[in-house]
Amino acid sequence: MPDHLPVVVVGAGIAGLTLSLCLARAGVRVTVIDRAQELREVGAGLQLSPNASAILFHLGLGSALDATGIRPEAIAIRDGASGRLILRLPLGEAMVERYGAPYIVIHRADLQGTLLAAVEQEPRVSLHLGVDIDSLQEDEAGVTVAGREAGQPVEFRGGVLVGADGVRSMVREKVMGGRPAVYTGRTAWRATFKAEGFVAQSFRHNETGLWLGRHAHLVHYAIDAGREINLVAAIDDVWNDDGWDVPGDPEQIRAAFARWPEPVRKLIAMPESWRKWALCEAPRDTPWTRGRAVLIGDAVHGMPPFVAQGAAMAIEDARVLSGVLASGTGGDVEERLSGFAEGRKARTDKVAAAARRNGRIYHLGGAAAKARNLGMRALGAERLIAGMDWIYGWRPPEG
Ligand SMILES: Cc1cc2nc3c(=O)[nH]c(=O)nc-3n(C[C@H](O)[C@H](O)[C@H](O)COP(=O)(O)OP(=O)(O)OC[C@H]3O[C@@H](n4cnc5c(N)ncnc54)[C@H](O)[C@@H]3O)c2cc1C
Repeated sequence: MPDHLPVVVVGAGIAGLTLSLCLARAGVRVTVIDRAQELREVGAGLQLSPNASAILFHLGLGSALDATGIRPEAIAIRDGASGRLILRLPLGEAMVERYGAPYIVIHRADLQGTLLAAVEQEPRVSLHLGVDIDSLQEDEAGVTVAGREAGQPVEFRGGVLVGADGVRSMVREKVMGGRPAVYTGRTAWRATFKAEGFVAQSFRHNETGLWLGRHAHLVHYAIDAGREINLVAAIDDVWNDDGWDVPGDPEQIRAAFARWPEPVRKLIAMPESWRKWALCEAPRDTPWTRGRAVLIGDAVHGMPPFVAQGAAMAIEDARVLSGVLASGTGGDVEERLSGFAEGRKARTDKVAAAARRNGRIYHLGGAAAKARNLGMRALGAERLIAGMDWIYGWRPPEG
C-alpha cells in the first residue's frame, strides 16, 4: 500500500532533477538535496540522443530544449592522421524519422536550467541547495538524511533514498558500501568559444565533428543556439593533479594536437581557457540497491563518454525509477527497487561496454586505424546507424 513519505534524492544533477520532475508529475512528493549553493554547470556541451530526448520531450521540455539546443544535420567522422572524411552519418530529420525524437546538442547549463525551471514549478518538490550531508541512514521503515544547511542542522525523512550524486557518489560509498570511482587512464579537455568570427572552411557549422587519432580524439559541435562552439578532446594520459577537474594549460593541449590536420589545430587554438577532467568510471561491482536505498546515474554506472550516453542513461534511469515509485514508497518497495536495478543494470552494462569499445577503436593508430577506417566505410552510414538502434530506439515501459 502506498505511504505518504517523500522520496529523498541526493544530488540535483541531470539524474536527480529528471527523477524529481517525473515523480512530481506522477503525484509523488520529493525532497531533493544538493551540496552546491547554486546549480551552475561547467562551460561544456552535451549530446542528447533520441532515447533521452524522447523522455524530455514527453515531459513537455521540447520547446525549451529546441530554443537553445541545436539539431545537427550530421556527424562527420574524420581520420586524425590524414584529415580525410571517413563517413558522414545523417542526424537531423533522419533521426526524427527513424526514432520519432531528435538528436540534440546543447549546453549543459541550458539542459540543467530547463530541468530546474520545470522542477521549480512543481509544488510536490522541495529543493534544498547548499546542504552538507553528514549522515545517511536506511532502516526498515524509511531513510534519514542529516546534515547542515546554512550552518543549521537539518534532517530529512523519506520512504526511499535515491543516490544521484554523480560518479564520486557519497551515497555509493557510505550507504551501499561501494568503492571509490576508478580513473580510466584518459583525460577529457573541454572548452567553448564564441562562434562569431570563426571561419570554419573545413566543416559545416551545423555538423558535429568527430576526429579519430592515435591515443586521442576530438569532438566539436555548436551550442547556445549556434553562438558557441563546444570542444571535447579525450587523450590517453596519466592523472597527477589534485582533484578531478582542474584548469587545463592551453599550451599542453595545443602540443598534444600539434601534428593533427590544420582544421583541428585551428579549432584547438581558439579557446582562451580549457578545463581538464579525469575520466572516471563507477566500479563495476557497485551494488545498485540496499534495502530502501537505490543509486541512479553516474553514481552507479558512470562510464566513459565515448557513446555520449552517460546523461542519457541517467535520464532513462530517472524515468524508469519514477514508474516504479509511482505506486508509493511503502509495502513491497524493496522488491520493486531490486526489479528496477536488475533491468537497468543489464542495459547500462551493455552501453558502458560499448563506450569502452569505442574508446579503444577511436584511439587506434597506424595500420589498425587504416583497417578501422576501411571497415567503417565498408559498413556505410545506414548500417552504422542501424547498429545504434538498440540504444537510440529504447523507450521506457508504459506507466
Ligand atoms: C567530457 C564528457 C563529455 C560527456 N558528454 C556526454 C554526452 O555528450 N552525452 C551524454 O549523455 N553524457 C555525456 N557525458 C556524461 C554526463 O555528463 C554524465 O553522465 C551526467 O552528467 C551524469 O548525471 P548525474 O546526474 O548522474 O551526475 P552529475 O551530473 O555529476 O550530478 C551529480 C549532482 O550531485 C551533487 N552532489 C555530489 N555529491 C554530493 C553530496 N555529497 N551531497 C549532495 N549533492 C552532491 C553534485 O553537486 C551534482 O549536482 C559526458 C561526460 C564527460 C566527462
